[in-house]
Amino acid sequence: MALPELKRPLIIDQLEALLRRLPPQHPKRSDITDHLRRFNIGFAGEQSLDVQLSLLPDDLHIFRQITLQTSSTRETFQIDLLIISPRFVFIGEVKNMAGTLRFDLHHGQLVRTLDGVEDIFRCPVRQSERQAHHFTSWLANHVPANVPVLPYVLIANYQSKIEAPLDRSNIFHAANLPSVIVKLHENHKKNTLTKKEMEKVVRGIKEADMEAGADLLRRFHIHETELMNAMTCQTCEKGVLLRKKHSWVCSSCRYRSTQAHVEALHDLSMLIRRPLKRAELERLFSGIPRRSSLRLIRPWTFREGYMYTLEKNKLTEAVKNQSKT
Ligand SMILES: [Zn+2]
Repeated sequence: MALPELKRPLIIDQLEALLRRLPPQHPKRSDITDHLRRFNIGFAGEQSLDVQLSLLPDDLHIFRQITLQTSSTRETFQIDLLIISPRFVFIGEVKNMAGTLRFDLHHGQLVRTLDGVEDIFRCPVRQSERQAHHFTSWLANHVPANVPVLPYVLIANYQSKIEAPLDRSNIFHAANLPSVIVKLHENHKKNTLTKKEMEKVVRGIKEADMEAGADLLRRFHIHETELMNAMTCQTCEKGVLLRKKHSWVCSSCRYRSTQAHVEALHDLSMLIRRPLKRAELERLFSGIPRRSSLRLIRPWTFREGYMYTLEKNKLTEAVKNQSKT
């Protein structure tokens, strides 16, 4: 079946942007790098599901990495794998973890043992149940039907060992996904969604999907001013980019770019939502005349009074086109 393209999670872009904007000696770098590594592993696990998903029947609708909002509390919730069938809704929390994974459902913990070291994580079963709960109420706002919403945990790493109570068949290796779906079809014989309702739900999800992005500065206790440094060279990671004629030149290696300021502004647009003062933005471009720095900022911002809001979509488009050339 035709598979939806798996988007790279925005948080990976945000964490990378944060690392590019922080000075090399910043104390939070190792923590951020560690987060980035974990999100990358998770994403690799998601990608490995492609094979299993291609084996599923055609009458299902598959969504991946969907971010929705509850209508009552406006709380956002993210579902790794969402499968809509006329008979049921499958909610999948995907974990790409190595080692022995022991699900302690009584205490709501996942205990991982890897190379003799034990680590405790939040229980993915609970996470999945919470998403199912939120999705059920989301669904109730769209269709009158009473559809069973079923929470599952998929382990994408085939070499990891799952230890879970035998009666919990909702935790399984991702390779079993096709057979789990077939079984669900057999167990739920009646269609609870009409064709029309199914279309309505699918359309509703597409419209509502919002890639929220995280407030990383708050999460890591980093102040915005800590990001407003002169632009460091991403090639040698040592030099500072200096404006010479109409391009940026690295003070250490020979790297030269005409667009480095667009990349820096794009990084900021992923991390800072509020409008900024001109003086704040100009800290990126120290050593160049104010009029020139305004010329660099103006095309990428929307001005209101003395405040400048970075135009994220425009910057993303520009950076994307640049990487193609
Ligand atoms: Zn350099």
